[in-house]
Amino acid sequence: MDKTPILYSLTPADPAAHLFHVSLTVDQPDEAGQKLWLPAWIPGSYLVRDFSRQIITIEAQGNGEGVTITKTGNHTWQCDPCQGPLRVEYTVYAWDLSVRSAHFDETHAFFNGTSVFLAVSGQEDRPCQLQLLAPPHTKDWKVYTSLREARTDGAARHGFGLYEAENYDALIDHPVEMGVPQVARFEAHGAEHELVFTGVAPNLDMDRIAADVKKICEAQIEFFEPDTKRAPFLDSSDRYVFMTMVTGDGYGGLEHRSSTALMAARKDLPTLGQEKAPSSYETFLGLVSHEYFHTWNVKRIKPAVFAPYDLMRENHTRLLWVFEGFTSYYDDLMLLRAQVISLDDYLRLLSKVIGGVHRTSGRLKQSVAESSFDTWTRFYKQDENSPNALVSYYSKGSLVALGLDITIRERSGDKYSLDDVMRYMWNRYGRDFYQGAPRGINEDSMADIVREATGVDTSDFIQRYAYGREDLPLAQLLDTQGVELTWASAGSTVSLDARLKVTPGQVELATVFEGGAAHRGGLSAGDVLVAVDGLRVSDALGLEHILRAYKAGDTVQVHVFRRDELRQFTVPLSPPPNSECRLAVKKTSAPELVDTTEEVLAL
Ligand SMILES: [Zn+2]
Repeated sequence: MDKTPILYSLTPADPAAHLFHVSLTVDQPDEAGQKLWLPAWIPGSYLVRDFSRQIITIEAQGNGEGVTITKTGNHTWQCDPCQGPLRVEYTVYAWDLSVRSAHFDETHAFFNGTSVFLAVSGQEDRPCQLQLLAPPHTKDWKVYTSLREARTDGAARHGFGLYEAENYDALIDHPVEMGVPQVARFEAHGAEHELVFTGVAPNLDMDRIAADVKKICEAQIEFFEPDTKRAPFLDSSDRYVFMTMVTGDGYGGLEHRSSTALMAARKDLPTLGQEKAPSSYETFLGLVSHEYFHTWNVKRIKPAVFAPYDLMRENHTRLLWVFEGFTSYYDDLMLLRAQVISLDDYLRLLSKVIGGVHRTSGRLKQSVAESSFDTWTRFYKQDENSPNALVSYYSKGSLVALGLDITIRERSGDKYSLDDVMRYMWNRYGRDFYQGAPRGINEDSMADIVREATGVDTSDFIQRYAYGREDLPLAQLLDTQGVELTWASAGSTVSLDARLKVTPGQVELATVFEGGAAHRGGLSAGDVLVAVDGLRVSDALGLEHILRAYKAGDTVQVHVFRRDELRQFTVPLSPPPNSECRLAVKKTSAPELVDTTEEVLAL
């Protein structure tokens, strides 16, 4: 087949209006009239987002003559038949400060291809070229991306100019950052990695961050490829790029085949001259670890329904507890194995996850397999009742991974672990994903995969805890690894058992936990607290002070505004639930087990 590339060109044209100008040139358009489409969602973020709504203007020309282009659906366009080459020009509004779409002002531009590049129907397998043009308002910007510079007439490293991708699927899986960021580079097992920080973040300690991230990357490469130590992304790019937008309170990440887009909070990052990094630095490192682990688990080891993705509609799988849950299990564990956190830190992070899952009664109503399937309409569309209605396939999924890991160790006499399952999946499904015919993990095949990898039958475990809704017997499981799990109540002696949304001068109930005091008294999410037993409530601390005078079993009169109506409820106070999980290495353990992370937990 003729492999003339589809040529795209993108200019960050108007920073104040946040507009990209994009053009695409198709040498041989469909003789019956070329169809074009834009993804409805971005892989890794399971919600139909209708990126097409940000295409503001669009027009087409065939061989220099105007061609009618008509919208035929939410994400589809039809050009009238024309002589080639077909050239389509459009503008895209880029003002979403997230990892999922595109953002552009006078300080920087960032985009995911899913927001800006129209696909040419029937020609998605053709190679793509991308001409990146500099913005008109500055000469200083550079380009950061895992897209390769074109082999002929290509852009200089970090320069504007011509880039290329082997097909449309690749084109939209290499996001691009442009601007004047803070940058650090390191090699992990010989492979190049770039750390790119955009946004106001004075005096970041780039050396410290690079040193820690390098340890995490090397630990993960060694984990999946103990013999070759080959980085996974070398099948698609000669570099891996962490592109991070720093804001006051940002948090989030999205994985790609050779890069990741992250949002981080300024306060979580170490700065020059600090002897000790902020304690919340582990949040940033955990996010880095999570997204990097996805380079194997979900970007190459995938559910069969994602191989390939159907980007026009929801793709349902019951396996996100494997792809997000296992990744969430290994993200913190890799921090421990890379020795960027201590065993105490690790147990504290794990106890938070256990407490968080235990806090939500939704865990008893939905399995992680069901939560995976329904993510498009439920996990990604959370509301005030979500903690009572659904379970997170991330956090409970990570506990299923922990339980499965311990179960495999127990049943194989410590010969095998979940590590062997991950490596088996990598060797069988992941390593050649972008080279051969893409294949993925079939639904309902995890028990078979565990058996093939380790010889251990865990079908009963998977059925109960991944496809069923039972709580994992974590105390028992962790006990076998020398770790004691206990429960305690958090904080004060009584509580309303609600999640609060506090704004200056106002305390609103954000979530009313099922079966708790507020629920039993008739209070609802959205109610604004006015007074408890006649005393005004204006902030969270004030509420705590008022409640301190009461004990479990007492009742209080609570005045609230529900919408603009003043209502009064009699609320029976109860002790706060035992939702604080504590983990400790058992004192009876031999001392040598206590001080070697290798052996405690055997994780
Ligand atoms: Zn993830």
